[in-house]
Amino acid sequence: MSPEITLGVMGGGQLGRMFVQAAQQMGYFTAVLDPDPLSPAGRVSHHHIQTAYTDPAGLQQLAQLCVAVTTEFENVPAPALAALAKSCTVSPAASAVAIAQDRAEEKAHFAGCGVPVAPYAVIETAEQLAAVADDSSVGADFFPGILKTARMGYDGKGQVRVANRIELADAWVDLKGVPCVLEKMLLLQLECSVIVARGADGTCVNLPVQRNLHRAGILAVTEVYEGNLPLALVERAVAAAKSIATELNYIGVLCVEFFVLDPASPAAQTLGGLVVNEMAPRPHNSGHYSIDACDVSQFDLQVRTLTGLPLTQPRQHSPCIMLNLLGDIWPDGGSPPWAQVLALPGTHLHLYGKATASKGRKMGHLTVTGATVEQVRVTALQAAALLGIAAF
Ligand code: ATP
Ligand code: MG
Repeated sequence: MSPEITLGVMGGGQLGRMFVQAAQQMGYFTAVLDPDPLSPAGRVSHHHIQTAYTDPAGLQQLAQLCVAVTTEFENVPAPALAALAKSCTVSPAASAVAIAQDRAEEKAHFAGCGVPVAPYAVIETAEQLAAVADDSSVGADFFPGILKTARMGYDGKGQVRVANRIELADAWVDLKGVPCVLEKMLLLQLECSVIVARGADGTCVNLPVQRNLHRAGILAVTEVYEGNLPLALVERAVAAAKSIATELNYIGVLCVEFFVLDPASPAAQTLGGLVVNEMAPRPHNSGHYSIDACDVSQFDLQVRTLTGLPLTQPRQHSPCIMLNLLGDIWPDGGSPPWAQVLALPGTHLHLYGKATASKGRKMGHLTVTGATVEQVRVTALQAAALLGIAAF
């Protein structure tokens, strides 16, 4: 390993920032490509190329600087990754990212791996829209459902809840008739996610499974400790995530989000309780806890997969709860009461260096670690109360 080596990342958001920080800790130089001069990762990287993601000159500069390049958001144009791959290592590969960018393609991949998905219909044409039945005796019953744009959605954006065919037709017009997926709304008991890292030699390791609470389509709280989920469920989710990565011949860090169905709901009988929602071809918000609670973080794993360093199975050394810090909790012209929060034991504050707070914007996260689950819970609830985050 040479300190002269530069690693690159497409995208300058908070995930890129934490990748850069992990890479720099290991002595690497870093380069970020992001058009925003104030991007969270660009501000802490040795190099910041401020061009569009498809700009040939920007991509060439990145390729010349770096021995290897990764991505921090799934909407990075796949052709840009393919162009970079001509002259440097790129992981994950453009082909895997392309599948994760498209809900219809990723669902087909999940089904191919034998992992159940919510009943869904692809809606790309008026004929496909008309073919969706709302009477279960005629065809699959997708209502109540959620119409999701096939591409470019995040944090619940590009999604409309629909109760029947009439609302569906209106929602498709609202979404400008772009390719969509209509998904049946499932009754959830809880949500969880699994982060796996897979190396070029096929080694695949995983972080302990995250239990996630979403509010208004955005991750709010992640809890990770022994007993956060039934063991049988954990084993199934990890096996499913690993098979999803392996079948893609994936190299890099991959997050797979799951729904755990309400056992009393009819769908739980037919689908078997655990349903895959979506995957992200990168580290994930639900894995941020690993920085403070595990011996190897999801960003360390991203550096290792990118550079071909060995992967070891991460070990969690502390129970933890992570609270997402959204712009909603920033008072006008001020900032949240950090000193009071940091007076609580085992609190780790991460702020992403974003200048302006707005509703739903991810400004940072707070991880609470402690000796016991009970202690972590008490502290996390105290921190939430101080910050104006609803109890959980
Ligand atoms: P992100 O990329 O930030 O994870 P997203 O915009 O891709 O979010 P999804 O993961 O598809 O959105 O959905 C966001 C949340 O909405 C889910 O975590 C879940 O709480 C809820 N949700 C989505 N689809 C369904 C469904 N079919 N049934 C029940 N709840 C759902
Ligand atoms: Mg999601």
